[in-house]
Amino acid sequence: MNDKISKFWTRRRFLETAAAAGGAMIAAPRQLAAAQPAATPPGRRPLIIASANGVACTARAMERIAAGDDPLDAAIAGVNLVEDDPNDNSVGLGGLPNEDGVVELDASVMHGPSHKAGAVAALRNIRNPSCVARLVMQRTNHVLLVGEGALRFARAHGFKEVDLLTDEARREWLKWKESHSDKDAWIAPEQAGGKPSARAGTPYEHTWGTIHCSAVDEKGNLGGVTTTSGLSYKIPGRVGDSPIIGAGLYVDNAVGAAGSTGFGEANLRNCSTFLIVELMRGGMGPREACLEALRRIADRTEPRHRGKGGLPINSVTFYAITKDGRYAGASMYSGARFAICDHRGARQEDCAWLFERKPD
Ligand code: ASP
Repeated sequence: MNDKISKFWTRRRFLETAAAAGGAMIAAPRQLAAAQPAATPPGRRPLIIASANGVACTARAMERIAAGDDPLDAAIAGVNLVEDDPNDNSVGLGGLPNEDGVVELDASVMHGPSHKAGAVAALRNIRNPSCVARLVMQRTNHVLLVGEGALRFARAHGFKEVDLLTDEARREWLKWKESHSDKDAWIAPEQAGGKPSARAGTPYEHTWGTIHCSAVDEKGNLGGVTTTSGLSYKIPGRVGDSPIIGAGLYVDNAVGAAGSTGFGEANLRNCSTFLIVELMRGGMGPREACLEALRRIADRTEPRHRGKGGLPINSVTFYAITKDGRYAGASMYSGARFAICDHRGARQEDCAWLFERKPD
């Protein structure tokens, strides 16, 4: 789809949806109006993509691919840097905790050539959940282990337990606990009817953050990983999109890979990364496929998660690569970035976006 058609189609589609929603979505937002990053040029391999916090991750993954590693192993080696970084409060060690002050991690991996996947959710005390997810893939007949079972599995494989809650993350949690009143993930009966939230701003206060990384090697083999401490101050036991294959990560060796960061519930409801890969299989470029997944989310966002102008309050960002080495990052709102490493080295680039400005 060329850009002109896409702009027209997007706007028309939004207005139709707004009309169908009985005016609930109010005015047409500014979308795809200003300068967007250009669609990616013809592909080149090898190529690594990651969320914006993954520039060093993409560089490390590229080194590993150059040394002959499998693309999934290379991507995992990349995200391990961020899992181990106590200063990144969205992943692994130093991640922000749940509402009880306990860090619970989610991660998934998917290997293109074998179409195998592994994942862990609500895993405590282990700093590299992506490595445990890889072992679930390699050393079990299952795909997803959660909670206590995931921890016992990790222990059985010799992972050492550590306290993942750094002082800084604990102080942030304490600030939230001491100051929050109604900014949490619970919904009171009078708010459960799907009406717009009476609360100002976000329905609950959380910090985003996750690292996703996908790699394609010189031969066109793919691998991907998504790892996170999830939404901060979540209800204990909450599982986000990151460990769910097809939501926060999907890889198909015949087509490409997609991953996500942001409001996981939106991806759980829309199987977004599976959708992106399927759209690419149907011939869409990575940028258009990511934007289409964002449109689906925007169209289907429940009223209480909409702000001014009917726009979604919570953002989602996608990262996609094709087997032939094309790539894109795309986000609900302008201003997001992603990390990329190719023959020109590791750097950040601007994401494409669906809407120009987030509602106040
Ligand atoms: N997607 C993650 C989750 O919902 C959070 C994030 O990316 O910030 O758990």
